[in-house]
Parts: sequence; structure tokens; C-alpha cells
Amino acid sequence: MRIPLDRQSETPLYKQIENFLREGILSGSLAPETRLPATRELAKDLGVNRITVGNAYAELEADGLICSRVGSGTYVLEPWWFEPIPEAAADGPWPLWQQEMEKRDSASKRKSLLHLLKESRHPDPISFAGGVSDPQGFPVDEFRKIIQKVMRRDGKAALEYGDYRGYAPLRSTIAHILASQGIQSSADHILITAGSQQALALVTQLLLKPGEVILVESPTYSEALGLFTDLDLKIVGIPIDEDGMQVEKLERLLLQHHPKLIYTIPNFQNPSGTCLSGQRRRQLLSLADRHNIPILEDDYVGDLRYEGRAQPALKALDPGGRVIYISTFSKMLMPGLRVGFLAAEGPVYDRLVTFKSFNDLATSNLIQHALDEFVTVGRYQAHLRRSCQVFRKRRDAMISALEQQMPVTARVHTPRGGLFAWLRLPSELSSDKLLRLAVEEGVSFTPGGIFFPDGSSGEDWMRLNFVIQTPERIEAGIKRLRKAIDRLQSRPGINPRPR
Ligand code: PMP
Repeated sequence: MRIPLDRQSETPLYKQIENFLREGILSGSLAPETRLPATRELAKDLGVNRITVGNAYAELEADGLICSRVGSGTYVLEPWWFEPIPEAAADGPWPLWQQEMEKRDSASKRKSLLHLLKESRHPDPISFAGGVSDPQGFPVDEFRKIIQKVMRRDGKAALEYGDYRGYAPLRSTIAHILASQGIQSSADHILITAGSQQALALVTQLLLKPGEVILVESPTYSEALGLFTDLDLKIVGIPIDEDGMQVEKLERLLLQHHPKLIYTIPNFQNPSGTCLSGQRRRQLLSLADRHNIPILEDDYVGDLRYEGRAQPALKALDPGGRVIYISTFSKMLMPGLRVGFLAAEGPVYDRLVTFKSFNDLATSNLIQHALDEFVTVGRYQAHLRRSCQVFRKRRDAMISALEQQMPVTARVHTPRGGLFAWLRLPSELSSDKLLRLAVEEGVSFTPGGIFFPDGSSGEDWMRLNFVIQTPERIEAGIKRLRKAIDRLQSRPGINPRPR
């Protein structure tokens, strides 16, 4: 391959190579699936160092324009996956330190995805993307009245910073909710946070230093992966099956990688919807205890159960001080409240309280007062019951539509709660490629790749949020998805492959 290089230019050589290839890919002159020369070969052709070519390839790969396949080579991807994201106009090039920031942006794939979803020109798009609960079900009027009541009742007290740990009555209320789930805690062991995302960030920043290892389920929650990547942690994935994390594979990984933390979502896992079996919960605790590794248990939708018996939380089985439990009111109530919490004991609790106070001083006091009022007057339990009834019907509608519409080689299992159906496409289909056609047909979902820590698996998976659409729209949306699949399958070069 010949690439004109200007050795006198101020633009580094790797950037010149990258720009040349980028233009070729976006203009279509380098067609999808074109195999690029090996770095050694191209470096020799151009008379540059192999690292220079490697850097150019790394930039293109980070932008989703090319991908390297182990043992096979580096290939051009469909350019339409990468839609350039409009940037604020700058008068000149960014200062060098800004350029470094740009390079390290771990969310480029997610941004392309959001951009693509926003671009939909369909008059009535049906979204199964996103990790939220149904905004139509938010108790807006009730909450407005409660805020007014709290302002009248508590006045200035609700508008001060408040206790670093969070509003004491709300912490007691949370301890009661946890007790009903078999978790013995007390207000003194609860720390209220700005959503459970903040709890996740505080715990990982306090317990791990850059370069240290965190063990996670593979696949797992994409924003946790983004956080861990930005903190420069080394992420090691443990595969899952229908009973959650394959704990049998854990000990080998513990011995090999010496992780500093195990992050797990035992109930209605995001994205897979699976629940960790009771036996595996006990094995996980005992292994973590033997190897002296803390567990971070993320119970983001534990109360959204539509059937079956709940397994005890890891925290409920913890003899003390081994598990840090986090949960949130985002999915079971409203994400805009930004109220989540963690439950922990011992020195780590005190350190987390101090660390959080350095981080944001306090979580919104007014919202905590209002939330406590909402929960204690029983409205929260009533809201949960209503949500579960509605969401169960939507889950059933999603599973039955998928069973009717999807090709026979697609696979989905029925989640017993939570928000998501996790679908495996026939292996010849890529969910990244499918998404663009699906958006054209007026339906969207989250492609599976962003949930896998290795950054390269999961292309044949997709996550479908079933709680945000009515059963009728779910049926219509899955029909549209089928149309998109048919269009993708009819493209030249897509041949059914056995799994
Ligand atoms: N954990 C999981 C598994 C999630 O899916 C989310 C939200 N998508 C969070 C934590 C964080 O949510 P929040 O900060 O709103 O509590």
C-alpha cells in the first residue's frame, strides 16, 4: 500500500497514515472487509517504524473504523458504524494536553451509538435501547405534592448541606427495606450517594489503584466498564451462563490475576437478565473470603421481580465486612432523583464517608427529605407493586414476540425480573451492523459489544429493554427488527453459519 508521507510536515507520521486510511474508509475507497497490510509489512513499505503504523491502526480501531481479528489480520469495518460526531468549532488545533485527552476517550463507541440513535428519521421510532425504567409510570404528581409538603414541614433544614452520610431518617428507612430482604444493616452503615453510579465510582477509586485488577462478569454493565477503563484498571472478565457468573472458573482467575475487587450484579444482571444461583452465591463468598478479596454487589433492580423466589443477597450471607452492597432508587422509582446508597461495615465505611465528602460534600438534602417521606408513607411499595404488574406483561410480550419473529437460530432466555432481554443473534449476524438497518426500520436496541470487557466479543448479542414500551409497541417493534434482520441476511457475503 502506498501512502504519501510528508516528512517535513509538523503532523506526526502516524497521524498522516491514520488520516489517509480514515479518508479512504469514510469515502468508501477502502471497502468494508478489506484486509489492511500487517503493521510490519506497511512499516517496511513506508520506511517507518512499526510502532508508527501500530499507533495509526490503534487510533482507527478506537474509532470503530477497523478491527483486528486474532490470527487473521486487520480489517476495515462498515464506515456507517462510525458517524463523525459534530464537535464544537475550535479556532485552531487543541493544545497538546487536550489531544492526549481525546486519545484516551474510552466512550467513542458509545458516543457513535448515541449519535446513530439520535439520527433516526423514522416518524415513530420504537426504542428498546437505554437502561431506564418507564418514565410514563413516574409518580410525578405525588412527588410534586411531597416536595411541597417537605418544604412546608422542614423548611431550611431541607436546604442545608445535611449529614455527610445522608439524611438520617432516610438511612433508617433504607435499613428497614434491607432488613425485609434479609440484610441486617443499620442507619450507621448506610451511605447515601448520587445514584449507585457514584457508589460504584467511590468504592473502586478507594479500593484500587491504576493498573490493579478488577474481576467482572463478562458481559457486564457498560458504564461500569467505562468507569474502570477511565480509572486505568485492568479488567478481567468471568464468563456467565444462565445461572450468572461461572464461579467454578473464579479460583483460577484469582490465582492468576490477584484482583483487588470482584464486581458482580447477582440479580437480573445487566445486560443478561440472569440471576446468580444460591449455590454459586455461597461459593463466591467463600472463595473471596479465602483469597481476601472484597466483593462489590450491585443490586440495581433487585425488587423488580416478576416470578420465582429471590435468592439471598450476598450481603445477607456475609458474616461481616466482606461485601459492599450498592443499590438505587433509579430503576425502581425515578433516575432523576439521583439517589442511591451503599451498605458497608468497618473501616471501609468510614473511609467511604470521608472520601464522598471530599468528592461532593453531600447528596441533595431536599430530595432525600422528599424521598424519605415518599417511602415511609407506603407509596414506594405501592409503586413497586404497580410497576411489577406492568413490567411482567411487557416482559411476556417481548419474549413471545421474539419467539414468533426471530430466526430459529436466535436464542433468548426469559428473565424473571429486571429490565432486559438478552438476545443472541444467528452467529453470522453482527448487532452493530443490524442497528443501522433497524434504526431505518424505526426500532433500536443496544448492541452487545459494549458490555464485554475484552472489547471484541459480543457482536452477535443485543440487549432489549422491555419495560419502556407497551405490549402493542413491543410487538410492532420486534416485527420491524425482523425486517431489519431479513435485510441484513439478504446482503451478499452473509451466509448462515452453524454456531
Ligand atoms: N448499576 C447498574 C447495573 C446499572 O444498570 C445502573 C444504571 N444504568 C447503575 C448501576 C447506576 O444507576 P444510578 O446511578 O442511576 O443508580
